Amino acid sequence: MKKYIGIAVLVAFGVLLPYGLGSYAIHVANVAIIFAILAIGLFLTMGIAGQINLAQIAFFGTGAYASAILTTQTGLGFWPAAVCAVLAAILIGLIIGIPALRMQSHYLGIVTLGLAVAFTNLVSNSSFTGQAQGINNIPGPTLPGIDLSSEYNYYYLEAVALAIGIMLAAFVVHTPLGRRLRAMRDDDLAASAMGAEVPVLRMAAFAVGGLYGGVAGVLYAGLIHFVAPESFSLANMFFLLAMVVIGGRHNLWGALVGAVALTLMREALVNFATYAQLAYGSLVVFMVLFAPTGLAGIPSRLRSLLLTRGSAGPDSTRVAAYIPAPSLGRGLHAPAPSAPNVVEVDGLTKNFKGLRALNGINLVARKGEILGIVGPNGSGKTTLFNVLSGLYTPTEGAVRILGDSAARVAPYRLSLRGVARTFQNLRLFTRLTVRENVMVALDRTLTRWSWRYFLWPLGVWRQDRGMRVAADALLERYGLSDLADTFPTELSYGAQRRVEIARAVATNPEVLLLDEPAAGLNGEEVNQLRLIVKDIRASGVTVLIIEHNMGLVMSLCDRVVVLANGAVIADGLPAEVASQPDVIEAYLGDSSLLDLPTTETAGTP
Ligand code: ADP
Ligand code: MG
Repeated sequence: MKKYIGIAVLVAFGVLLPYGLGSYAIHVANVAIIFAILAIGLFLTMGIAGQINLAQIAFFGTGAYASAILTTQTGLGFWPAAVCAVLAAILIGLIIGIPALRMQSHYLGIVTLGLAVAFTNLVSNSSFTGQAQGINNIPGPTLPGIDLSSEYNYYYLEAVALAIGIMLAAFVVHTPLGRRLRAMRDDDLAASAMGAEVPVLRMAAFAVGGLYGGVAGVLYAGLIHFVAPESFSLANMFFLLAMVVIGGRHNLWGALVGAVALTLMREALVNFATYAQLAYGSLVVFMVLFAPTGLAGIPSRLRSLLLTRGSAGPDSTRVAAYIPAPSLGRGLHAPAPSAPNVVEVDGLTKNFKGLRALNGINLVARKGEILGIVGPNGSGKTTLFNVLSGLYTPTEGAVRILGDSAARVAPYRLSLRGVARTFQNLRLFTRLTVRENVMVALDRTLTRWSWRYFLWPLGVWRQDRGMRVAADALLERYGLSDLADTFPTELSYGAQRRVEIARAVATNPEVLLLDEPAAGLNGEEVNQLRLIVKDIRASGVTVLIIEHNMGLVMSLCDRVVVLANGAVIADGLPAEVASQPDVIEAYLGDSSLLDLPTTETAGTP
């Protein structure tokens, strides 16, 4: 309710604002709105999708220049030119996004910065962009019955564009596409293992940046009637970046507040241009050091500070008991020998430079089987899972899952085919709630269905509601209902392991790979885990489980494969395998047989 009152007040303010502004002030307001639209684009690409983008100003420039060129040189009207200009900006967004397929973080920052410089150089030197003089006499938009040459009326046109931009951004962020983008930002590896097409999502993030940049550029050309290279300089890119950082790059309102605040500040300091740059710079440094979540993050930081001072008890991390599925006869045991092979690994070898982590592995897992994979630390167990889930490509050998080759298949494809996994070193999406973590996994659609955001948003909304209901049902069963709205970082280790299993199950897998799911769990939590895995198997899923807890392996697994130095040294019933002399020798001196939690946490996913 409070939210709606806030929005109503904001809308009323936006509608009434021009009545209180002089002719110069309304111009400043119009510029501020354009920067706000640009800032939303940057917020989506950087804050939501985690793609460092220092070329947003080039998307802005593309929109402005394309609209200038099309209207002044081809005689196209404002609106058709605007559509083409926005499409051009999206195209430039996709082109500038290509490097993101190969590199991330500061490398991506450097490359996009270089492309932004290239854009400024291009428009400063090409004759068709008017070189340094730019392009003059750009016609403004027309609408029947409204005189848009008045900046007061233009304000309302921009305000409508901004309102649509805000609504679209807010909708995307809280529905499947945005959730996947945020998951990718938090952990691209885990996101891909949960079915998110990371390369497509990265391109989508840049396309969205291009969309907002293009709209801002078109509005800018229509407002000023003039474009020149200096409006799209690196200084302005920095200005834009400062808006998003100061406002708060993880929060839509932060980006908007930052855009308005900095535009006003720039106006106030217009006679001290040199000092103004210095001031923004210092402000950015100050914010990054002392308020990394920006202005928008300050209220929630204060709140959490007050809460931790207050009475927030350890209860917030307690997991309730797992509720066994009543219909699944838990008496089900090992599958018949005639059950089809779900996983087949043939002569699998995996080299890391000089190191041979897997050396000619052969194994099968039958439908409905619980296959234990044990072996000393460093014997290649996690590497095997990484190959099975598509994170690593095998050096040699064949891997078939459900009859189809799984070597060199992207992780998201394997996820959609029915391979799910957990990670030895917990890879939850840290800035998504527990419920959202599960919802990312429940999403089985391909990202190209995102066109529905424009053509059938109601369908997207309905799908999202359905996923929420399904997620809550799953969380209930896994005893996680009370934790649905908490973030993984607030949870105990045991609770995080439970969430990871729930998330993997949410993908509705055929094969589930559990990498040391009992590591760090207490006795009761291990009992619950046993119950959970038995239920999962009873529902027809094939489970491969890497475990050091021999008690759990012996009581749970139908069959056990032992690895040592990347090779299979034993394969059989748990009791048979445990008594083989070479197995005992492989374990000699290894603490894992004594049931200690593993200390290995380095490197591999
Ligand atoms: P386990 O899970 O059985 O403890 P791993 O599969 O994690 O063992 O590791 C097997 C060997 O492969 C180790 O020597 C490890 O250092 C090495 N290894 C695993 N992943 C990589 C990687 N990405 N790059 C280089 N070496 C790796
Ligand atoms: Mg491991």
